[in-house]
Amino acid sequence: MASGAEAQAASASVSASAPGADARAVPAGGVPAASAARLPAAGRPALDAAWAALVATARRTVAEGLVVGTSGNVSVRLGDTVLVTPTGVPYDRLTAADLLAVDLRGRTVHGHLKPTSELPLHLAVYAATDAAAIVHTHAVHATAVSTLVDRLPPIHYMAAALGGPPRVADYALYGSPELAEAALRALRGRTGCLLRNHGALTYGESLDQAYDRTAQLEWMCRLWLTASTVPGRAPTLLTEAQLDEAGERLGGYGQGVDAGGGEPG
Ligand SMILES: [Zn+2]
Repeated sequence: MASGAEAQAASASVSASAPGADARAVPAGGVPAASAARLPAAGRPALDAAWAALVATARRTVAEGLVVGTSGNVSVRLGDTVLVTPTGVPYDRLTAADLLAVDLRGRTVHGHLKPTSELPLHLAVYAATDAAAIVHTHAVHATAVSTLVDRLPPIHYMAAALGGPPRVADYALYGSPELAEAALRALRGRTGCLLRNHGALTYGESLDQAYDRTAQLEWMCRLWLTASTVPGRAPTLLTEAQLDEAGERLGGYGQGVDAGGGEPG
């Protein structure tokens, strides 16, 4: 799997845009050939590695029960190129040959499949944040919570790892610019949000981080639903000060030896 470092390296090579970095892309002083013009500047090896990581992440959302069928989508950004899962293709059928890349305006720059219908949502998040990867699912507990509250109640300190208790974005039709706008409002200061009557979205500096945040968010939603359905009892909630305190301690979390994202003590 491509690491965040690899994605960042690819990103750096794109912003450097040294002539000849990808000799096929733009011949010096010449107009690129039609086929070469379709190759993103990130370079094919970096794109292939990122695609393999993206497909693995997408399959993980299914294997771990966050996605049923083809109901979620995953993307990863390398410079000005975004690799994204196609619409309507089960993840276990995706191969290296299905690599699908768009530019930041959503125009396909490589591949023949149709991008996910949630592409506007992904592109809006890339435009407004420093996201390098995005995971969107219709995970059942997150979606259930999205129908009940305006914000996930602060039931666990791991909410601080998302920048605070995730908000619920107003409902809007899937794939619409209105949904993208609502999601951006809900994401302010956060790396994850719920989408009302729809699902959840998280982003991160890498596919692994974006995935882990989705899994944590789903777990917190499940936790709150579980605790809040005990008859006659209401769960205790954390104060803002308690969340801030946890957030400070979580500040360095995940940046060291623990690449597996284990539970902080
Ligand atoms: Zn969706």
